[in-house]
Amino acid sequence: MLTAMPPPPANHPNRDQTPVRERGDACPGALRLHTADDGALARVRLPAGVLTARQAHSLADAAERLGDGALHLTSRGNLQLRGLGAACGGPLAELLHGAGLLPAPGHERVRNIVASPFSGLDGLGGRDVQPLARELDALLCADERAAALSGRFLFALDDGRGDMAGLGADVTLRAAAGEDAHGPGAPADREAAVVVAGGAAVRVPCAEGPRTMLLAAEAFLDAAEASGTRAWRIAELPPGRGLSTAALLDRAAAAGIAAEAAPEPRPGPAVPPPAPGHRPPAAGRAAFGGSPPGAAYVLAPLGRLTAAQWRAAADLAAREGTGELRATPWRGLVLPGLPARFLPALADAGLVTDPASPWHGTGACIGRPGCAKALSDVRADATAAASGATGGGPGSLPVYWSGCERRCGHPHGARIDVVATGDGRYDLTVAVGGAAPRPSPAGRPDPPAAALLGLDPGRLAAALAAVRSGPAHHRPSTTK
Ligand code: SF4
Repeated sequence: MLTAMPPPPANHPNRDQTPVRERGDACPGALRLHTADDGALARVRLPAGVLTARQAHSLADAAERLGDGALHLTSRGNLQLRGLGAACGGPLAELLHGAGLLPAPGHERVRNIVASPFSGLDGLGGRDVQPLARELDALLCADERAAALSGRFLFALDDGRGDMAGLGADVTLRAAAGEDAHGPGAPADREAAVVVAGGAAVRVPCAEGPRTMLLAAEAFLDAAEASGTRAWRIAELPPGRGLSTAALLDRAAAAGIAAEAAPEPRPGPAVPPPAPGHRPPAAGRAAFGGSPPGAAYVLAPLGRLTAAQWRAAADLAAREGTGELRATPWRGLVLPGLPARFLPALADAGLVTDPASPWHGTGACIGRPGCAKALSDVRADATAAASGATGGGPGSLPVYWSGCERRCGHPHGARIDVVATGDGRYDLTVAVGGAAPRPSPAGRPDPPAAALLGLDPGRLAAALAAVRSGPAHHRPSTTK
């Protein structure tokens, strides 16, 4: 059923200035479409980013038959279809249902699960968390209460390598390795995981991780209801109304889960940031030919793939890989088991396989003409800058282009923010924390931004190259 997205909810501050939301979140889904300037938009949740080659073909068909012919990867490893016609709601739902992508229509917007996309493929990490992600998804879909979660609530499962740490999830499971693996439970199940949710952190046997994550989500729903704020995310709970380790331990005990308190999470990101080397993977990166099976990794410039590119990846996955694809939060595709000799074919299709490509970490919102709020065609400008940029690669600071101050879809953590102030005009700032930068009280711009009085791709590329090596080399104009 096609349902227009309601207008943005009204917020009113209460005494402690915590927003009180009067209605549910307006996040689009596969059944609740958002009306944009380029047509309707649908967001298809792909828990842990996983889909089969057959499902990928169905999505390509949907993009061609009903949308703008492209598939757009999101910063949560989900997929957006844009440019949909006004009457496409029914046919789209039918197509997705037939492909097995709508297993629980009442829960389709709450299946926000990210998981280490190379887990089980490259021998790194403490444990393969993909089966745990599938179990969490099944628990969510079977839980009536979970349907009340907002479309923004995010679960993350990190296999121990730290790659999910910077995504700002509400509930994070981090599989332990080595000495940390000595968790509670029977000797036969000594693998442990830490579940972090707001101010709560408990250690449980890995196998109990999904149930514990669901308990944390239920605790959040109770806390949001009790606070009267209708918060969408854990971080929005008022001071003193957040989740506590003691309360989560009580819930675990009542559910028969052997749990113990884990060290208090640090303020800021839900889990410590990834160590160097645990950053987003490089395109083309793979460990091939053995057990574990390895994988090929490709990026899609600005997360957009044509239906033809998408089908090329799906065909290779079906014919030469394991038949599975995994969309990543870095707007790329992992192709499990695909041998290295097929990387050139993916490059020929227009996908990024070069580990030094400036497309690493370059992202953009939809901008003009897709969004009425956009002040500039950010995708064209980002493309022009990336074409002239040097010094890219997975170790570089991400660069995110936004058509206005809302910065939709920006990555969490340190990044370069390029925000339109007019047609072809931008402010450039460096954010060094876990949230969107705020305008500097002293006012913008910082030195590089001062040079950007108008967009010149060459000058912008040089400015980006000067600051993307890291915040340590640059005085941020805005911090969080
Ligand atoms: S950041 Fe602004 S211009 Fe870009 S999609 Fe969001 S609202 Fe539109």
